[in-house]
Amino acid sequence: MAINPLAVPPPPDRPSRAEAEAAVRTLLRWAGENPLREGLLDTPKRVVKAYEEFFAGYQVDPVAVLERTFAEIEGYDELVLLKDIRLESYCEHHMVPIIGVAHVAYMPGSRVVGISKLARVVEAYAKRLQIQEKLTAQIANTIDAVLKPRGVAVVIESEHQCMTTRGVHQHGTTMVTSRMLGVFRNDANTRRELMSLLGKG
Ligand SMILES: [Zn+2]
Repeated sequence: MAINPLAVPPPPDRPSRAEAEAAVRTLLRWAGENPLREGLLDTPKRVVKAYEEFFAGYQVDPVAVLERTFAEIEGYDELVLLKDIRLESYCEHHMVPIIGVAHVAYMPGSRVVGISKLARVVEAYAKRLQIQEKLTAQIANTIDAVLKPRGVAVVIESEHQCMTTRGVHQHGTTMVTSRMLGVFRNDANTRRELMSLLGKG
């Protein structure tokens, strides 16, 4: 298996499940609650379990996800686009959800990958603490490094709950980020084709 240069090294001292649950009880007390109240007794256990889902991406190697490719593509060399991939990520400044969609496109070289794999790469990086700019770049850079296509484009549109539920309480604002590599960066026609397929022509 290839070494993933983008992989996040594991933390040196991962706490035990009991320590993580104790930390949730501390936050409950900080919020003004009594963690011994009946309705909250199992909450630390549930929160820690939810964290395993929210941050499952740390256990996934996105390079390994993309490694199985198909070479028999009958000379197909046109744009491949997976649109509206549901995105659930978490802002690394406030640890609250970033919810939106990702669009992933690439221009094949000699190989293609199963489209579900593109969605799994998005998920592998999204299910971590993120900032949207870094998330967008990581997805594009990994596809570029592993598939070696003629170009990659990743566009993410999302709402940050740290903006809607706290701070400025700004509703209905969408943050859009994109990373274009290869022909999507260098060729205006290819970029235009992508934008028109995304309904942004
Ligand atoms: Zn935030």
